[in-house]
Order: sequence, then structure tokens, then C-alpha cells
Amino acid sequence: MSDCIFCRIVKGEIPSDKLYEDDDLLAFRDIRPLAPVHLLIIPKRHIATLADCSEQDAPLLGKMLAVVPRLAREAGLAEGFRTIINTGRVGGQEVYHLHVHILGGPQPLPAMLKH
Ligand code: 5GP
Ligand code: ZN
Repeated sequence: MSDCIFCRIVKGEIPSDKLYEDDDLLAFRDIRPLAPVHLLIIPKRHIATLADCSEQDAPLLGKMLAVVPRLAREAGLAEGFRTIINTGRVGGQEVYHLHVHILGGPQPLPAMLKH
């Protein structure tokens, strides 16, 4: 997807603060952090949303989650963190390339949702 921001980051056309990379995944710092540590993990392959995934994507999705502890540890999030995947309009997704947010910092994060 040539007009997708995250595909352009994968291709190196847009710079990013990369923290991790392998054949399938890339992790980098969010450009507008909502917590002292705010990282994103994306698949290199363009998948628009989690709603576009199915059981056949289990290995890739598993990899995305499995790398979280390592990234969190390396970012100093020893006392916990929050992972978020926003999906679609109702989920508040802004960038339509699947991504996992990792958020944390020294202080507990605010309540997840306000009622
Ligand atoms: P969403 O709301 O889709 O779950 O989150 C998209 C995230 O991508 C936002 O937190 C936003 O700050 C981040 N973002 C958007 N454009 C860029 C960019 O060009 N570089 C980086 N590093 N993050 C971006
Ligand atoms: Zn993309």
C-alpha cells in the first residue's frame, strides 16, 4: 500500500525511531506519545485491521504479542504496561495498518475506559 504511512515506514520512506525489526515485524516509538513510553508493533505486511485477520494469521499475531515482553523490558517497563489494538471506526483506529500499542511509564496509567 503505497499511501499507507506504516508501509512507508517499513520501506524506510518515512523515518521512525526503530526499536526492533525481524523478517515479519517492526517496532518503533509512537510519534505522539500518550504515556512516557509509547511504542508500536506492526507487521511488515499490510493488514488494515485486526478485523481483517483470521485463524491463518495466528502465527503472525502470536509473534506480535510474543515480542511485547522483550520490548517492554528493554523500555524499562518492569512494573507493567498496557497493550492496545484499536480496530475500525468504533475502536478509534486512525492508521489503517494493524498495530499493537505498548504504553507505560513509572506511574499507573489512567483507567482504560471512562463510563
Ligand atoms: P491508532 O489510533 O490507529 O490505534 O494509532 C495510530 C498511532 O500511530 C497514533 O498513536 C499516532 O500517534 C501514530 N502515528 C501516526 N503517524 C505516525 C508516524 O508517522 N510515525 C509514528 N512513529 N507514529 C505515527
Ligand atoms: Zn500499510
